[in-house]
Formats: sequence, structure tokens, C-alpha cells
Amino acid sequence: MQVFEKNSNIFMLLSEAISEGIVVVNQEQVIVATNQRAENLFGYEREELKGEPLSILIPDSFRKAHHRHVTDFHKDGEQKRMAEGRSLFGLRKSGEQFPLEVGLNPFQLYGNTYVLALVYDMTEMRAKESEILELNQHLEEKIKQRTQELRLTVAELKKEIRRREAAEAKMKDALQREKELNELKTKFLSMVSHEFKTPLSGILTSATLVGKYSQEEQQPKRDKHLKTIIGEVNRLNGILNDFLSIERLEQGKEVYRKTLFSLSKVVNEVIYNANMTLKSGQKINYPQNVEEIRLEQDEKIVFLALTNLLYNAGKYSPEDTEIDLNVELMDDKVKFHVVDRGIGIPKADQKHIFERYFRAENVLLTQGTGIGLNIVKNHIENLGGTIYFKSEESKGSTFSVELPIAKYESA
Ligand code: ADP
Repeated sequence: MQVFEKNSNIFMLLSEAISEGIVVVNQEQVIVATNQRAENLFGYEREELKGEPLSILIPDSFRKAHHRHVTDFHKDGEQKRMAEGRSLFGLRKSGEQFPLEVGLNPFQLYGNTYVLALVYDMTEMRAKESEILELNQHLEEKIKQRTQELRLTVAELKKEIRRREAAEAKMKDALQREKELNELKTKFLSMVSHEFKTPLSGILTSATLVGKYSQEEQQPKRDKHLKTIIGEVNRLNGILNDFLSIERLEQGKEVYRKTLFSLSKVVNEVIYNANMTLKSGQKINYPQNVEEIRLEQDEKIVFLALTNLLYNAGKYSPEDTEIDLNVELMDDKVKFHVVDRGIGIPKADQKHIFERYFRAENVLLTQGTGIGLNIVKNHIENLGGTIYFKSEESKGSTFSVELPIAKYESA
């Protein structure tokens, strides 16, 4: 200690020129010299610290760690900066603690070891650091918030895109439907004009000729033309009935009436009518097993369905071919099969056969509207039944109808 007193003037001179606090301790950790900056920092009067143990400048909670540090330090004997990377605190006389960093510089003087500690007040630095930390946190918070907002916006945008895509698809659908409807309309109009033109011109020709046969003996010729006229009017009437039928079906106005009727009676009538439309050499084979059978179903629809199928079978078969009408009777349903050996239906067209106005490409030279099967299918399905077919081009077709029956009994 005297050594320091002896040299105190030099020490004072040097130490007061330094802006950091200086605390010099001897090997026993006793303070032997301080500069004014150090005294101000720790809140002591001039020279008041001299002779005090260093520990009065260290808060309780750090003393142990400090002791260890000093021991290690003496072992290494190198210059070191304490508290690098960790918080270190100093203890003021008032009991207040403040953050600091310490640079340790050991030196020898007259055979004794001392340590000169340079004390850096970190109060402002720490305050700045925590301010920066706070700012960073604030920034991170803001970024998080913005990211979240962006995420929401992106999600909204995605939703909007999906909504627009759906609307676009709907619009495309509607346009496609409208296009199909227009095509159907055009098809329908050309079909109607064609279908009406032929019978009308036939009627016109026959009517003109009837007027020319004025002689009594020409009655057979008049009769022939009158028959043609009646036939053609019936055909037009049939087509118009089909149109009306479509309208009633579409509006759900069709009323079905189930009655108990004789199957053979209906079959006979249907075949009788169909025979009138057959080509030369065509023949319809009666079902074997329908005598004495009574069914409960809508007789009108059974009649309509069988008439359509037999009429088509004749129309789409060449001369001199046979057509079979078969009936299968079960407990709860009846099956009709109309078998022909005609032109058949091309494979590619088969899936469209029940569509309204559809006609296969191999029948375009034959008269027809493409309505009949569509109407029959609607009626049959409304009655809880099914209609289906098997067909091979140039070989023939079998159209089948299944209908549920409430009960049947022998007559
Ligand atoms: P249409 O006979 O007036 O054209 P349909 O609705 O009765 O209308 O039949 C639709 C289409 O089904 C016909 O145009 C024809 O292509 C096909 N078709 C129906 N029945 C037969 C059959 N027995 N043989 C071959 N093709 C048939």
C-alpha cells in the first residue's frame, strides 16, 4: 500500500486522465488505489475506498462467481475482460446495482502482484441494448402481424379466384347448355319440317288426284288415295301427339291410371295395328303364353310402349324378316322383349338412343323423329319400370321393357 502512496502522484496523474474507472487491488483483494471516475461510479468519497475489500463493490449474488473468477485469473495471469458475453453488476455505496464491464490488467510492482481493473459503466449501453431489443421485438411483432395479414389477404384472394373460376365454369356450362339447346332447336325444326313436308305433299298429291277421278268406275282409285290421305293424316296426328306427350311429361302433367286388363287383348291390338305398317314379307310372331293373363298396370302405356317397339322393329328391318314379341311374367313384374333381325344400331350411337330427337347415323334415310323411344322411356320410368336394348349392326336388335305389376291373375 505504501508503494502506492509513494507513487500516488504519478498514479493520480495517469489515472485521472482515463475516462474509465480504475480500481487497483492487491493479491488479498484489497483496494489499494482508485481514480475519481471509479469513486463517482460506485458513489464513494475521495480515497474512501482505499483499504476496503474489493467485495464491497460487488453485489452479494455475484461474490461467489467473482471469487472463482479471480482465482482462475491469478492462475492464468493474463489480461482479461470480465463479463464478456454475460451481465456483470457493480454495487454502489447506496446499495444500488448497475451494469458494468471490467478489464483486468495484472502487474508487478516491487515484488508484489496487483491487478488494475478498468471499470466500464454499461448503464447507457444496456439501456440502448434493451431499447434495441425492444425495437427488434416490436419489429418482429409487426412482421408477424403483417405476415398474418398477408396470409389472410392471400387466402382471400385464393377464395376470390376459386369463386371466379366457379362462376366462369358455370357460365361456360350455361353457354354450352344454350349451344346444345340451340342445336336441338335447329335439329327439331329441320326434323319437323321434313316430317311434315312428306305426308303433306302426299296428301296434296292424293287430294289433287281424287279430284281428277270424276268417273263412277274410278271409285277404287279414289278409295286408294283417300286411304293414303287418312294414313298420312294419322301419321301427322301421331307426331303431334308425341309433341304434346313430351310437353305433358315435361310439365309433370301426365296422369297414370292403373287398371286390371287382359294382356292378350292388348297384345292382339298392338300386333294388329303393327301388321298394317309391316313391309312385304315381314311377320310378327305372337307371344305364346299370354292367354288368360290379366295385369294391373297402366294399359295405355303398355299399349304405347309395345306399339312403338314393334313399329320400330318393322321400320328398321328389311322385307321378309320376322319379329318376335316375347313376354315373361314374374310375381311382381312383367318383361316384354321385341326381337328383330334388322339393321341394328351402330355401337357409337347406342348410348344416345333414348335421347330426345336422336337418330342413329344408319337410319337417316328412313323417316322418323327420334322422339318415340324417349317418350316411352319417360313413361316406363315414371311407372317404376326400365327399358333397355341389345343391338348389333346389320344383325338386329332386342328392345326390352320391364314393368312392375301390382298383381296378375288368370282370367
Ligand atoms: P324414330 O324411330 O322416329 O327415329 P325413336 O325414338 O323410335 O325415333 O328411335 C330413336 C332411334 O333409335 C331411331 O332413329 C333409330 O336410330 C334407333 N332405333 C330404334 N329402334 C330401332 C331398331 N329396332 N333397330 C334399329 N334402330 C332402332
